[in-house]
Amino acid sequence: MKEVLLIKNGELALKGLNRHTFEDILIKNLRHRLSDLGKFKFTVAQSTIVAEPEESVDLYEAVERVSQVFGIAAFSRAAAVEKDFQKILAATAEYLEDELSGAETFKVEAKRSDKKFPLTSPEICREAGGYLLGKYPHLKVDVHNPDVTVNIEIRDEYAYVHGSQIKGAGGMPVGSSGKACLLISGGIDSPVAGYMMAKRGLELTAVHFASPPYTSERAEQKVHSLLSQVANYSGRIGLWVVPFTDIQEKIKDNCPEDIFTVIMRRMMMRVAQIIARREGAGALITGESVGQVASQTLGAMICTDEVCEMPVFRPLIGMDKDEVIALSRKIDTFDISVLPYEDCCTVFTPKHPRTRPTLDYVIKAEGAFDCEPMVLAAAENAKFVNIKAKQG
Ligand code: ATP
Ligand code: MG
Repeated sequence: MKEVLLIKNGELALKGLNRHTFEDILIKNLRHRLSDLGKFKFTVAQSTIVAEPEESVDLYEAVERVSQVFGIAAFSRAAAVEKDFQKILAATAEYLEDELSGAETFKVEAKRSDKKFPLTSPEICREAGGYLLGKYPHLKVDVHNPDVTVNIEIRDEYAYVHGSQIKGAGGMPVGSSGKACLLISGGIDSPVAGYMMAKRGLELTAVHFASPPYTSERAEQKVHSLLSQVANYSGRIGLWVVPFTDIQEKIKDNCPEDIFTVIMRRMMMRVAQIIARREGAGALITGESVGQVASQTLGAMICTDEVCEMPVFRPLIGMDKDEVIALSRKIDTFDISVLPYEDCCTVFTPKHPRTRPTLDYVIKAEGAFDCEPMVLAAAENAKFVNIKAKQG
């Protein structure tokens, strides 16, 4: 029996005139995500995308992949059947045999977008219900709370038969909202922040600040692993690894220790913005959450934002750490994040950071060195790494 994936758009359905653009982006993302599993043909009608394998493919793996693509509310594996009612009936009994045998109650739902089909939707439901009761005499009909819903959709080319739907990843197709630059550390928060903004349709590029020899090659590898996990959802991510040692040493030698971190974060933002612009990204993304650490107090964020000329998205801003951890487990970044490699921030953490730095004090302290040439050099010397999805 020919099998396909029937994919229902998420918020896309609401987007009116833009719908086609969104659908095109979603199909492009699906095609990319499934490309190494085999060839698929994609067709769209009435907010449903049909992905039809054109050769033998691992559909279990395809289901796993599709469940990670943003812009999808729900989807299902379905049998594609010739639009002959007897064949459709036979397909319901055969294709859903496992689900129906294990159930006590069922109902049939029918949708007919091909109005030329001789039976109406209520007729299809009635006939198919009777047929299935004959084939599976142990079953009862329950229209309110059935164990199994048998779906029959009569569309242009085929009739599709499927059982329960699989929940999609939700959100908007990656790329439909533009592009943003994620500041990624090796910690728990920033990969989750990247995932959350990709879910809102942003394509990601990323910046990581490394301070060799204080930070190791393994710390950078850890960032690659984290991003390839995020790329399962966001698609490929171009990563820029920025040499940050000179800047950090300069700060350490010239500025008061209690505001090291704030100045360091201002330098990070300056460099990240240059790279973001170069990459065509319109915003920065960080994993900050109010009050989590000294550099994430309101006062510190005011000082950080003062150097930012583009919006800074902080999707975790109001979340508790345990909520962030739950998400990081869901996207499989947690176990990588907790690997104990030094990050450039931890290496230079002051013993007593100032939790209420004032902007005047920070700007004055920064005046001790000429930051502009260092920022430009760091952005210029960043190394590019192309990060692909972990699976495929
Ligand atoms: P995370 O778990 O994401 O490391 P954190 O709670 O440890 O966050 P900080 O170390 O203060 O918090 O970092 C705050 C944010 O700054 C991070 O979420 C990240 O966006 C950015 N950041 C921190 N260190 C780096 C780095 N080495 N390279 C790039 N961005 C960084
Ligand atoms: Mg950190």
